[in-house]
Amino acid sequence: MMNKVVYPGSFDPITYGHIDIIKRASKIFDYIVIGIAKDNNKTNFLFSETERKSLIKNSLSSIENIEVKIFDGLLTDFVKQENSNIIIRGLRVLSDFEYEFRMALMNRKLDDEITTMFMMPNEKYTHISSSLIKEVASLGGSVDDYVPSEILVELNKKLNENSK
Ligand code: ADP
Repeated sequence: MMNKVVYPGSFDPITYGHIDIIKRASKIFDYIVIGIAKDNNKTNFLFSETERKSLIKNSLSSIENIEVKIFDGLLTDFVKQENSNIIIRGLRVLSDFEYEFRMALMNRKLDDEITTMFMMPNEKYTHISSSLIKEVASLGGSVDDYVPSEILVELNKKLNENSK
């Protein structure tokens, strides 16, 4: 049986933290579906879903056993649709724990067949999030160590457009 997992998130934009988790997962599991969630509580995205999808694809072109999809509705429905029963989430710092713990238990309540597994990135990336990177970049700070160069270009382009 193929071990297929779903790695959901906003990825606005994808960072080396996400990439670290995806690389680790790609060595353990047969296939990873990266799911860009359409409708969660976050509203002010910098990139559209389609832009986020192509940014992810471009930065992961060297990994073969992955696919990027946009989904809306319940994550557990999406996981089932993909014929998977494993959700991967990244854990950075203790403050992630409470939210992730609640989500994992709610998802288990919604579908007991689905298990959430947590992975930790390299410690170089435990303090970064897409929002922190957007904030620092928008203020002119360097985020070169946290996003691939092709993302950096698009990030700066977008921030410039928005400041006009
Ligand atoms: P969400 O809005 O669902 O939290 P994100 O794109 O912010 O979406 O994150 C998706 C997943 O990736 C989450 O499990 C999050 O904890 C994890 N993640 C985000 N940044 C990092 C990082 N720097 N290192 C490891 N995991 C991360």
